[in-house]
Amino acid sequence: MKENALHVKHLVKPGAKIKLKEIDPGDTAPYQDKKEVEKLLKVDKEEITKLQELLYAEGKHALLVVIQAMDTVGKDGLIRHVMGGVNPQGCSVSSFKVPTAEELAHDYLWRIHQVTPPKRMIGIFNRSHYEDVLVVRVHGLVPKPVWRARYEQINAFEKHLTENGVTILKFFLHISKEEQKARLQARLDDSTKHWKFSVGDLKERELWDDYMAAYEDVLNLTSTPWAPWYLLPANHKWYRNLVAARVILETLRGFEMQWPVSQDDLTNVVIPD
Ligand code: AMP
Ligand code: MG
Repeated sequence: MKENALHVKHLVKPGAKIKLKEIDPGDTAPYQDKKEVEKLLKVDKEEITKLQELLYAEGKHALLVVIQAMDTVGKDGLIRHVMGGVNPQGCSVSSFKVPTAEELAHDYLWRIHQVTPPKRMIGIFNRSHYEDVLVVRVHGLVPKPVWRARYEQINAFEKHLTENGVTILKFFLHISKEEQKARLQARLDDSTKHWKFSVGDLKERELWDDYMAAYEDVLNLTSTPWAPWYLLPANHKWYRNLVAARVILETLRGFEMQWPVSQDDLTNVVIPD
């Protein structure tokens, strides 16, 4: 397999019938060596940084990266490792928490649409509108017919965005239940990580199978030609980071951007002493 084909390997094909139990969260093929992969990531990050500057300068595209995962899988770590090099002026990160009273009084896409990236920007969603068919479904926060209708609504919303200049990439970070246990334990054992630990996360862990069923529906019903999901094996952070970087890089390359020319004629310009 070509080294740069990770973005093809982990794409969820529209209409797929993914069963998460059949997908190995420990997959790192064709790599085994963390150090080697970290070097590749460094090179990719440098190119992402350059292309992000071009994205900003050219001003024709917006890129939206949606990140979804169970707790402890490393949504924050992914953002730090893959996007850490880009100019903060061209990038925004939006984290979606339990909706406020005002947000709940609106339709669930209201708070999302307000922060979708404008042209020249990369927007990263740490959680997203998908919570409205994940936590909301698992906890029965709205009746089934209400969340059931949302897959189609989300596909239509994302189509609207892509037809208006926003390119959408969606990453589901897949870890095993055992790996989550190890990471929760590591947080518990380190007092500098306690701020990330919430007893509520253990309640969500008890609902693991319900969450996996909800994620399967998300992947199978909302990976579309215009807004595809990528299923990132995430037991190994270094591999997870490389796959994410590759997908972002291939997308930016695909924009075939050009440096804009100056509005002025610069041919005979001399800088005065
Ligand atoms: P964290 O990302 O750990 O800061 O936690 C944010 C919490 O907000 C998670 O438990 C999410 O499930 C929850 N959350 C995000 N969006 C929604 C939503 N639309 N409805 C209910 N809970 C949500
Ligand atoms: Mg949390």
